[in-house]
Amino acid sequence: MRAIISGITGQDGSYLCELLLEKGYTVHGIVRRSSSLDRPRLSKQYNDPAIYGKRLHLHYADLSDATSIRRIVRKAQPDEFYHLAGQSHVGLSFDIPESTCELTAIGTLRIMEILRDQDNPPRFLHASSREIFGSPLVVPQNEETPMNPTSPYGCAKAFATQMVRIYREAHGLFFCNAICYNHESPRRSENFVTKKISLAAARIKLGMQQELLMGNIDSERDWGYAKEFVEAMWLMLQQPTADDFVLATGTTHSVKAFLQLAFEHVGLDWREYYRLDPRFNRPADPHSLLGDASKAQRVLGWSPKTTLAELAQIMVDHDLERLRESQKPNR
Ligand code: NAP
Repeated sequence: MRAIISGITGQDGSYLCELLLEKGYTVHGIVRRSSSLDRPRLSKQYNDPAIYGKRLHLHYADLSDATSIRRIVRKAQPDEFYHLAGQSHVGLSFDIPESTCELTAIGTLRIMEILRDQDNPPRFLHASSREIFGSPLVVPQNEETPMNPTSPYGCAKAFATQMVRIYREAHGLFFCNAICYNHESPRRSENFVTKKISLAAARIKLGMQQELLMGNIDSERDWGYAKEFVEAMWLMLQQPTADDFVLATGTTHSVKAFLQLAFEHVGLDWREYYRLDPRFNRPADPHSLLGDASKAQRVLGWSPKTTLAELAQIMVDHDLERLRESQKPNR
């Protein structure tokens, strides 16, 4: 099997790459020119001569550049296309709405048009988001819940999600939406709250940081583990028919709860280090976003296993190890 992953250098893309390689796939990853040359999330595979250049191939392309994507599709002849690339930060989308919509909405349409033109269009998965529900009228939300986005990011994802449905129904293509609620891991970028907290807990434990400046910590999230979410994405493309699935844990926890779990794990009391800084407050934070993933459980046999406490531990332990490594003198 051959797969293309857009966003392979990101959190989900790197886990999905590992999963597909384990399953024997040849993986073609799309990397944008401005991406860091370090590629820390892919370094294991990238530095393995038995993998890189043999079963893992990275190609420069950009969501804004149809020609570059078309060329990769023609070369790779994929059976499956996992579209995970995009501007993935909701808060940032208020600062850069135009490029968020250009990449997340039109970039997705661009890929679907290229795939539609193929003689054998691959199966296609679009990483949609809970943010399409924005301020929902029903709790919890499932695949039938009407979209009502409240951010430029949510609006761009809503457009792409609906276009996937249109392409599936109008053109008979195997195109699916994974409607993902938040999922975290040690590979989360540092501008996301869980990573900010896990890193701070590790740094404070090692005496490298004194306090943690944060905005409102009462907002609630339905948080899962990214490694488990990419398994569901793969399962979605193995089904006899294309469909959309909500991927979520079905429980919410406050940012404060995550803070407590992360700090407790290293024997610290978060209240001694947390400082409220209104600069980090987010506008229009949705409070009632809770996913109903019962369809994924019923049809795919998928359900998340990792608890929030376990996730906090995995993230803090990873950050502690990385920081301790970086403190070692060079040999
Ligand atoms: P991420 O870590 O931010 O990764 C995003 C990826 O997109 C990176 O590889 C990035 O490349 C790439 N990218 C950005 N702009 C691009 C462009 N113009 N051309 C080509 N590639 C581009 O995000 P993630 O957490 O893995 O999320 C994966 C997808 O799921 C995203 O679409 C996100 O919106 C969606 N999603 C995520 C969550 C979540 O909780 N994680 C929830 C709902 C939906 P660089 O490495 O160069 O930056």
